[in-house]
Amino acid sequence: MRIDKLLANMGYGTRKEVKTLLKSGNVRINGNPEKSAKTHVNPEEDQVTVMGEEVEYRKYIYLMMNKPGDLISATEDAHDPTVIDILQPEDQVFDPFPVGRLDKDTEGLLLITNDGQLNHRLTSPKKDVGKTYFAIIDGKVTEEDVQIFAKGITLDDGYHTKPGKLVVLHSDEVSEIELTITEGKFHQVKRMFEAIGKEVTYLKRIMVGALELDEELDLGEYRELTDEEVEYLM
Ligand code: URA
Repeated sequence: MRIDKLLANMGYGTRKEVKTLLKSGNVRINGNPEKSAKTHVNPEEDQVTVMGEEVEYRKYIYLMMNKPGDLISATEDAHDPTVIDILQPEDQVFDPFPVGRLDKDTEGLLLITNDGQLNHRLTSPKKDVGKTYFAIIDGKVTEEDVQIFAKGITLDDGYHTKPGKLVVLHSDEVSEIELTITEGKFHQVKRMFEAIGKEVTYLKRIMVGALELDEELDLGEYRELTDEEVEYLM
């Protein structure tokens, strides 16, 4: 990795600021002063210091966002702002991406990382990681629906989903539910309810695996996961 990218990623400023820092002669690689931004280092093996202090290398970033209902879960989009666009520049330098997709109008827990293995573990249907959603449903959700969801639902394209754990929080003309599923088919929660003739009017993800959405985060806010939270996901 280029020394200027490493220093920028580790929070020593923009690429331009880092270039100035290098020129000042305060950066050393394995004890030798280094002034060129183009020099490559192996961050796992080489010792890099800035003004005598060792640079602690960090490869991965793990963020939890409370996604608002107006951002696209993608790294870029031709028309709309994405969840990556609202990250601070010091987080964007890690080239993070969202783990799985939430629909544009879906709110709640979205993990953002640059750890491809974690992404695979959390999104592969083979890994059976539960994703729990809170939803408001136009229609009365009944105990019979709970049983139907427990057996899996046949969607409009003929796909039969894995079992979903449906918990009815409030049942009336407008109902409130929590649903845990272990897959992430396109619009899956909305289509599961459509299949029983009911419409999701509000959808929010509240849990992925053992990780819960931090309710202190307002919509559009995010924070780094704690080491303990990263452990939950591994
Ligand atoms: N199911 C949906 O229908 N939408 C989402 O955003 C997530 C799950």
